[in-house]
Amino acid sequence: MSSKSIEVYGVPWDEKSSFMRGCRDAPHKIWDAFNCESANRCSESGINLAKSEVLRFQGSMTLTSGNAVLTEIETAAAEIAAGGRLPIFLGGDHAITYPLVKGLHRTYPDLNILHLDAHPDLYDEIHGDRFSHGCPMARIMEEKLATRLVSVGIRTMTPHQRSQADRFGVEIVDMISFVSKPPLIFEGPLYVSLDLDVLDRAFAPGISHHEPGGMTTRELIRVIQNVQGALVGADIVEYNPYRDIQNMTAMVAAKLMKELAAKMLAQP
Ligand code: MN
Ligand code: MN
Repeated sequence: MSSKSIEVYGVPWDEKSSFMRGCRDAPHKIWDAFNCESANRCSESGINLAKSEVLRFQGSMTLTSGNAVLTEIETAAAEIAAGGRLPIFLGGDHAITYPLVKGLHRTYPDLNILHLDAHPDLYDEIHGDRFSHGCPMARIMEEKLATRLVSVGIRTMTPHQRSQADRFGVEIVDMISFVSKPPLIFEGPLYVSLDLDVLDRAFAPGISHHEPGGMTTRELIRVIQNVQGALVGADIVEYNPYRDIQNMTAMVAAKLMKELAAKMLAQP
């Protein structure tokens, strides 16, 4: 294996949640779950992520409030990518993804996005806010920050969002037709944006928007393990610890972090 390492950053911002706050307290809860004595820190492929030279928590970003945070997140992401670092960002709600991608796009102008979510997040605005956690994919596509956006796990498509998807050329793999094989294939750099509500709430109750009929944890892991593309970064968003039951969703998020990190480390 190469000397690559993964850096984990907390992005503790939930001001753009339309229904319920709490995601701002997620990053450390996920990192604590990863370090919990109840499990080891190897990926399923056997990569030991316990060593800090392989996977390191860089703490949470220091953020102010309001729309200034968008610039703060973008600047931080741009510096990380410019430095050749491979980041996993722990949200925060899904509003963090637009500025993260905007920052990464400076280094990776041909970035592809694999978006895993119950929701397409393509609203033009929610309650007058164009930076709501229901809007990031609309902003990303408007500003042409992604070569391809493939949204998988969708089961809440509205007519408005359907027309937005058509307008932007978003490739939708909805739960009606979802199968976790064959693998998704991307040419060039790939960013994975993982909204935990892609999972059925039976597997991940610690989220703000419970949308029944989602993936099993195993189906989601299979998507991550099988995806083809040069993974240059990822986020795990929408974990709400105040909705969780015995930290079970934190453990799921930590597991997904391990599988994403292993995927990045195993790349040539
Ligand atoms: Mn989302
Ligand atoms: Mn969602």
